[in-house]
Amino acid sequence: GLSERLQSVMSKIRGKGKVTEADVKEMMREVRLALLEADVNFKVVKDFVKRVSERAVGQEVLKSLTPGQQVIKVVKEELTELMGGEQSKIAVASRPPTVIMMVGLQGAGKTTTTGKLANLLRKRYNRNPMLVAADIYRPAAIKQLETLGKQLNMPVFSLGDQVSPVEIAKQAIEKAKEEHYDYVLIDTAGRLHIDETLMDELKQMKEIAKPDEIFLVVDAMTGQDAVNVAQSFHEQLGITGVILTKLDGDTRGGAALSIRAVTNTPIKFVGMGEKLDALEPFHPERMASRILGMGDVLTLIEKAQAAVDEEKAKELEQKMRTATFTLDDFLEQLGQVRKLGPLDEILKMIPGFHKIKGLNNLQIDEKQISRVEAIIRSMTKEEKMHPEIINGSRKKRIAKGSGTSVQEVNRLLKQFDEMKKMMKMMTNMPKGKKKGFKFP
Ligand code: GDP
Ligand code: MG
Repeated sequence: GLSERLQSVMSKIRGKGKVTEADVKEMMREVRLALLEADVNFKVVKDFVKRVSERAVGQEVLKSLTPGQQVIKVVKEELTELMGGEQSKIAVASRPPTVIMMVGLQGAGKTTTTGKLANLLRKRYNRNPMLVAADIYRPAAIKQLETLGKQLNMPVFSLGDQVSPVEIAKQAIEKAKEEHYDYVLIDTAGRLHIDETLMDELKQMKEIAKPDEIFLVVDAMTGQDAVNVAQSFHEQLGITGVILTKLDGDTRGGAALSIRAVTNTPIKFVGMGEKLDALEPFHPERMASRILGMGDVLTLIEKAQAAVDEEKAKELEQKMRTATFTLDDFLEQLGQVRKLGPLDEILKMIPGFHKIKGLNNLQIDEKQISRVEAIIRSMTKEEKMHPEIINGSRKKRIAKGSGTSVQEVNRLLKQFDEMKKMMKMMTNMPKGKKKGFKFP
């Protein structure tokens, strides 16, 4: 993923006061790849990288961030901006009913989303929607909507499959007026590919139904093709919003970015499952993280920023560099890490962590940390500075004093020793070969 690749670049430019053009160029190469991997359209990627580069070069680095983190911050801000603010509002007609047309390719999730949206309108906005079965071409499409209507206990308007969709829409709206439904959600037919017959029919329906919203329903797994689909629906119909479905899958969802950039219409909701309550407002920030494949790196950076005393952090880093890191420093660092919040929550924010097999059910043991802290606290000043003097009898004393065992004391000393060795290795490595991301 992006984060792994960026980390090596980031560690290289650590410690500089200004972000240089070369730094940004190197990082942008990785960002570009990540976006393309997430199926963002190449033209969108090109424009994006250009804009971020212009903004990032020459920036003063915030005291609490490394230059690498700073560039990531700019990337995420721009990405969020590109996807627009939170836009989960739905139009309300001045004279009811409010009419919504659901359009999109076959299999995108129109029918399911029609049910979900009706559910949301009733639950969240206290509305009284009517569903309209206007897909007369796909076998069982009417039945599918009727089943959803039954589950929701909501009326489904249908005239079978022998009446034209345009006529169905017209009569449905009349009926909604008479019976005081305030929303009419029209489920329309899709095709496997965009074709003229489909578009003509939708255009006629738009003429007659005068919808307040036309929502384009797009399968988030549609990669590069999403742009073409969105573009032609938008050109022909003028869509007012996008609903991205199947985001519960493992797609990175780069389509969202492309669609937003190409149509300049907001993504309003995302489908997160097959169930009727699996429709959520679109959160641009979350999507930005997802597209970049970075977990919540930025949240982590921000949390770290808030909790870690800047001067202390610098001091620690200096100590790590010169490998004069002592057990006292270790204790201090443990305390700072704990300030960030419950450990397992912090670990969850580290990109890729959730993907590591077997760690899913891992309970991070806070008690373990307390024991380590107790052990270190039971050492004398001299022992903490020079742990090599800790012999058998000292170990026994420390274990007793901390309410732990000699084995635990041994384990800690061994870990600390390894940690120091690793630090030494890292600081002695030639520039550019360093790995890893200082945490926090
Ligand atoms: P339509 O042809 O555009 O009307 O698409 P449907 O509403 O019939 O949906 C096609 C398939 O996608 C169905 O099996 C749905 O259950 C499924 N589907 C729709 N939305 C979602 C979603 O958000 N997540 C998942 N996992 N499946 C979805
Ligand atoms: Mg359908």
